[in-house]
Amino acid sequence: MSLEAGSPGIEAYVAGVRGGDRRAVAKTITLLESTRPDHVALGQAVLEALVPETGRAVRVGITGPPGVGKSTFIEALGLYLVGRGLRLAVLAVDPSSPVTGGSILGDKTRMERLAREEAAFIRPSPSGGSVGGVAHRTREAMLVCEAAGFDAVLVETVGVGQSEVAVRSMVDFFALLLQPGAGDGLQGIKRGVLELADGLVVTKADGEQKLLAERTRSDHEQALSLLRGQAGSWMPPVLAASSVSGDGIDAVWEAVLAHRRAQEESGELQARRRRQAREWMWSLLREGLERAFREHPRVGARLAELEAEVEAQQLTPSAAARALLEAFRKA
Ligand code: GDP
Repeated sequence: MSLEAGSPGIEAYVAGVRGGDRRAVAKTITLLESTRPDHVALGQAVLEALVPETGRAVRVGITGPPGVGKSTFIEALGLYLVGRGLRLAVLAVDPSSPVTGGSILGDKTRMERLAREEAAFIRPSPSGGSVGGVAHRTREAMLVCEAAGFDAVLVETVGVGQSEVAVRSMVDFFALLLQPGAGDGLQGIKRGVLELADGLVVTKADGEQKLLAERTRSDHEQALSLLRGQAGSWMPPVLAASSVSGDGIDAVWEAVLAHRRAQEESGELQARRRRQAREWMWSLLREGLERAFREHPRVGARLAELEAEVEAQQLTPSAAARALLEAFRKA
């Protein structure tokens, strides 16, 4: 297939995505995630054509430890949004576990009810690779979804440090989900993650856990006000919700919209997106440079040997890096 701009292949994809066709969206994302360079090139050409239509969705990131209720919450929020006549996409950043090499979010069938809704599009995480690589592909998928006219894009990730930073750097609102009764105050949550959050939601606020959830909520509200003080203009709200009864789900969405209004008024939304675009470019550059570096014939020939010498403490890391950079610079 010709990859020239304007070829029927590209146009068909672009028209399909613009028309909101979920199959065209899925196929375009598949091209972008492909390991075949010709597919990726076609996908990129489609994406370039779609860029003017991107940027309009409300982008929400959702994180939390395994079992906190992320997928149940996303389904409840998704159904709530569909009920209000909105169309939404659900994406995920799930880097493979450093320990098992497997998926962290899990392969269980997720969000079955939401998946049946015409107005919803659910795409599992691109598999394998570094957090950076997985995040790039999710970011591209997000742009495709926006061009397809989805009103909201929810990006799920599991709380494992790096992936949270990656997701925070692609969304407008980053929500941290908390388990009822998970300790007093801020116990158990990494301070860094709290600093990334635009809002906290205590899950499972129903039945026997309702009171506990409320106590966890107020504990965190207090602790957060001490931690964040009046530093930022936005004080992250701490909410409690039940994905089973639906209580509090509307308040979460209201908080997302209130945050967006505040950010629009202060100019922070545009500033955040500009910053994100620049960071994205740099992260693509770093990835591309590292690839070029590893593929460089002179570097490739010496890399394994120098790595071994560094491991054996026969050579300092800085001397090895210098030698490799020198080899790389010699064209
Ligand atoms: P994830 O690993 O964070 O995606 O968590 P899941 O969404 O799979 O939920 C973990 C467990 O908590 C499941 O057994 C859910 O049924 C349960 N759960 C999730 N949300 C709620 C809720 O709002 N109320 C109650 N009672 N249980 C919930």
